[in-house]
Amino acid sequence: MLIVQKYGGTSIADGSRLRAAARRVTGLARQGNQVIVVVSAQGEMTDILIEKAAQINRRGAAREMDAYLAAGEQMSAGLMAMAIGALGYPSVSLTGWQAGIHTDGVHGNARILTIDCLRIRQELAAGKIVVVAGFQGIDPEGDITTLGRGGSDTTAVALAAWLKADRCQIFTDVDGVYDRDPRIYSDATRFGRISYDHMMALIENGAQVLHDRSVEFAREYGIPVEVLSAFTGEPGTIVGDLESSYPNGT
Ligand code: ADP
Ligand code: ASP
Ligand code: MG
Repeated sequence: MLIVQKYGGTSIADGSRLRAAARRVTGLARQGNQVIVVVSAQGEMTDILIEKAAQINRRGAAREMDAYLAAGEQMSAGLMAMAIGALGYPSVSLTGWQAGIHTDGVHGNARILTIDCLRIRQELAAGKIVVVAGFQGIDPEGDITTLGRGGSDTTAVALAAWLKADRCQIFTDVDGVYDRDPRIYSDATRFGRISYDHMMALIENGAQVLHDRSVEFAREYGIPVEVLSAFTGEPGTIVGDLESSYPNGT
C-alpha cells in the first residue's frame, strides 16, 4: 500500500514523540508499504517564529514571512528523516518545492494548484520513506509560499490525492473528530465517520482540527481521510462520504 501520514506539531513536539512517529512509519515500511510522512513545525514553533518576526518588523513583507515560516516545517522534516535513519531505514526529507508542490502566489494563504510527483515517486521507488515538509509550496515566480495556518493537513491530503494513495492518515493530539472541541467540552462525542459537508460545517464553526482546504481536496477527489491520535494510534474518525474510497477500493 501507499500510505500518507501527517504528524501535527504536538505529535512531534519533542525527541521522544518524534521517535515514536518514526517507529510507526518505519514499521509500516518494513511491512512492505510505501510511506510518505508529512510533518508540521514542532510544538508551538510557528507561533514562536511569528512572534519573533513581529519584534523585527510588525509589517514584514508576506514573501519574507513565508520564506521564514516555512523553515519550521523544514526543520521537522530533516529531523524526522534523521530519526528514521537512526532506526536503520533509508529516508529522504523534501521541502515543498522539492516535493513538486506548486501553488498560486498568495503569500500566507497559498492554494495548491498542482503537484509534480516525479521526485517523490523516484525516492519511493528507491525504497525510501519520503518525509515532506508540510504547509509550503512554490509559486509561479519560484518563491516559497505557505498554505495558511494548519495547512500541513492540506499538504498531506493533496499528496494522497495526486499520488493516488491507499491511505491518508492525519495524526494529531486528539483521538478523532468530535461534535465540539473535546479539550473544552468534556461531554463532546466522537464521530466514527463524518461526511465532508458535516466536517466543513464544523470547521466553519471554528473546529481547527482539519484545515478547510484539506477537506475540500478530499471531497473533490473522493478520498477518505482518517483523523487519529498520534499517542495511541487507535482507529480514529473517518472523514468521508459513504461512497468515498481509496483507489484500491477500501
Ligand atoms: P495539529 O497540530 O495536530 O495539526 P491542531 O491543533 O491543528 O493539531 O488540531 C487539533 C486540535 O483541534 C485538538 O487539540 C482540539 O483541541 C481541536 N479541536 C477543535 N474542535 C475540534 C473537534 N470538533 N474535534 C476534535 N478536535 C477539535
Ligand atoms: N505549522 C503551521 C501552523 O502552525 C502549519 C501546520 O501546523 O499545519 O499553522
Ligand atoms: Mg492542525
